[in-house]
Amino acid sequence: MNVARILYPVRVLGPGERVGIWLSGCDRGCKGCSNPELWQRKPEFEISTDNLLRLIHKISDSHPVDGFTISGGEPFYQPQDLSELIKEISVISDDILIYSGYKLEELKAMNDTATDFILNNAAVLIDGAYIEELNDNSLLRGSSNQKIHILNSGYSTLYQKYLSETHNQIQNFTTADGIVSVGIHRKGFND
Ligand code: SF4
Repeated sequence: MNVARILYPVRVLGPGERVGIWLSGCDRGCKGCSNPELWQRKPEFEISTDNLLRLIHKISDSHPVDGFTISGGEPFYQPQDLSELIKEISVISDDILIYSGYKLEELKAMNDTATDFILNNAAVLIDGAYIEELNDNSLLRGSSNQKIHILNSGYSTLYQKYLSETHNQIQNFTTADGIVSVGIHRKGFND
């Protein structure tokens, strides 16, 4: 699969200490996208699901993993690989939050086995393309048109509490490629 980055501990995109995974590839071109560097799939980002799992287990073997946040790019451009990944990581935690520029109805209408598997096994989907004019500095949502769908009702209470008690924050990671800023950024972040 084509994965641009994996970071831990991500504390600003869902409850607890999470593994964040950013899949590359997106052709929507939303104005003000905070991750335009992830639009292109790149050969150097190619990694087998097994090797990605090894990296994830290296983290989870020695650190608490409360959940996963999967973003991009557009994660649903790689449904087969993503479904295989989700099957494996749900053993560590099934609090799996996924971002998509597609709406939930669009994903369901695809009638694709891998896409259905993802939707049936994710805890939360945040859907809809980013619209810069509707960026209201919300927690978890880049713009107010996006919806937070709790797909696994077992996580309703946790996410309701998280959404009511937490403020939007940004977290910076120092990586080999420089500083990576994670979270829901304010309008104009990339200007
Ligand atoms: S869907 Fe997401 S990654 Fe793709 S251009 Fe829009 S904001 Fe950026």
